[in-house]
Amino acid sequence: MVFFKLVCRNILAVSLCGLLVSCNGFKIWIPEDESTAEEREKIAATLQHISALAAEVGYQNSFTSLPVWVTTEDEYENNRSAYCSWDDNNHGVYIVINRKVFEREKQEPRFQEVFAVLLHEIGHCYFSRGHSHERILKPGYIAEVQAVDSVGGTVFNESGFPVSIMYVGSPASCQENCDASFRITKVKEFEKYFVSELVGTIKAMSADELEKFKSFRWVKIEE
Ligand SMILES: [Zn+2]
Repeated sequence: MVFFKLVCRNILAVSLCGLLVSCNGFKIWIPEDESTAEEREKIAATLQHISALAAEVGYQNSFTSLPVWVTTEDEYENNRSAYCSWDDNNHGVYIVINRKVFEREKQEPRFQEVFAVLLHEIGHCYFSRGHSHERILKPGYIAEVQAVDSVGGTVFNESGFPVSIMYVGSPASCQENCDASFRITKVKEFEKYFVSELVGTIKAMSADELEKFKSFRWVKIEE
């Protein structure tokens, strides 16, 4: 009951088909968890992995206290991949992930969709972090990044490196190249950096510091 009261205060921002409950006189929808055993296993393993990476850089709390649910509903808030629901004190209550996140990772495992989406929502739910549009740029250069899995690799270019997992492309840049804006946050070699940034052990990195990542290099733009 306490749980439903907590949810009740913020659920009005969320319109998902799910469980209808009555709370303080309001009828509200609680998203229904549609996760499969495979998805639950993936979520648990990813949360454990994120917690282990955080512990490596000195952050001791784990990220397993909030429930993570899976939905197939595509109709909430502009078709988002996931969201965190807060209470009135900006404390996370639960995380919901759309099934399409798991499907995208299956199609292209070299991009760690589930990791990036969960870490982003941990930023909202556990650290009350908002979005960031900050990127590290190197004038005259583009970032060339390689994402690899067991069957091959993909090389892609970006004009800069997102400083945080809370990065989202601006609406303008998203119209041009929405997908690529987020790709760097899904590359395995950067996962420890993004966890470290989130838990506060690294504030930002310079363009030169980024060279130490194997999958990354700055390529001079031809004049
Ligand atoms: Zn977000």
